[in-house]
Amino acid sequence: MVIDDVVSLLARLVSIDSANSSMDGPGEAELAREIEGIGRALGFAVTSDEALPGRPNVSITIPPTRANAATSGRRLLFDLHLDTVPHRGIPDATTPRIDGDRMYGRGTCDTKGALAAAIVASARLVASGIERDGEILLLFTVDEEYLKRGVAHAVEKGLTATAAIVGEPTSLRPIVAHKGAVRFRIVTHGKAAHTSRPENGDNAILQMVEVIDWLRERLEPAIAMRDHPRLTSPTMTIGTITGGTGVNIVPDRCAIEIDRRSLPTEEPATILAEFDSQLAELMRARPGVKVTREDPYLVERGLDGPADGSLVRAVQAAIRTVCGDAVDVTPTGVPYGTDASHVWGLTGTPTVVLGPGDIAQAHTADEWVDLAEVRHCADIYEQVMRSFVSGEWGDTTRSG
Ligand SMILES: [Zn+2]
Repeated sequence: MVIDDVVSLLARLVSIDSANSSMDGPGEAELAREIEGIGRALGFAVTSDEALPGRPNVSITIPPTRANAATSGRRLLFDLHLDTVPHRGIPDATTPRIDGDRMYGRGTCDTKGALAAAIVASARLVASGIERDGEILLLFTVDEEYLKRGVAHAVEKGLTATAAIVGEPTSLRPIVAHKGAVRFRIVTHGKAAHTSRPENGDNAILQMVEVIDWLRERLEPAIAMRDHPRLTSPTMTIGTITGGTGVNIVPDRCAIEIDRRSLPTEEPATILAEFDSQLAELMRARPGVKVTREDPYLVERGLDGPADGSLVRAVQAAIRTVCGDAVDVTPTGVPYGTDASHVWGLTGTPTVVLGPGDIAQAHTADEWVDLAEVRHCADIYEQVMRSFVSGEWGDTTRSG
């Protein structure tokens, strides 16, 4: 099979609906099968591993051609998510359409352009016949758009790498830092009563008013003081509130959901402990308040990869070769999260987020990607792969 045209490969990937099945889509399975088929047709070693029922991660491995003690275990990981956000109500969202140098369709930008670029780059790398002192691993993950359970599963099963590139729309700029997130519920506990005799009850909604005021006055200003050279300060957003069962019943329960966006330098356990100590202090100050915190249902560490070192230098050199001065190669930070939260956050692997397309187009109704960027990305990925397998990096980025 000849896979050398990144644009036609992208169109093929976009035409397979892989909207996340936890978010009103069919899921990643059909695209996973397609990627497996492409990998096998190219002669690569392909494995699939169910991260969630019916939702497999796919790995394509390009092994070293030379194995020796000095280079064994070197692995450059490309992490690419298979899923997209849903597209209900958007006509022909999975029918790729080319207009000028843009391709429109769900996933063109986030992140099938990067998938196509990585596959084509690997095919070209192997076809070039270059000797390889190190392995290239393309890991295609499920569930990035929802809870990132695909990459979490791979890391849990022992994924390691010398360095990693996470393919996401960055307009081909190297991203070395992004925030993490901790999401959880806080619940107040009251007592139900008929509203003709409210004095017999204990209003959980009124308790929650006190909780919200306390957190906004005591905790929010404190976290807003924290800073990072490449990121904006941490934030906390109360995203939902639920309480009460009817207008004539004193509510016995009220819950809020908190989305705490964190710096990668903040420990998730410390973030939760800060909430706990504030809630304990509140209950001492206002004995009428009975409040508990639930375990978080999402913990993402963020990314704070080194802004120098072999990976970053190789990425910068490749961008300069392919794009000249058109792209700023300064390592930078972004507020949104990626699979790097787990690749870097749980294993410490030096990681750069890099891919074609502008994040402004991701998740939008008329999502598109600049095809010149997709072609450039394939060239950049290929050059980074070449510099890695040719052993130019030395051992400075080895994670063991
Ligand atoms: Zn994405």
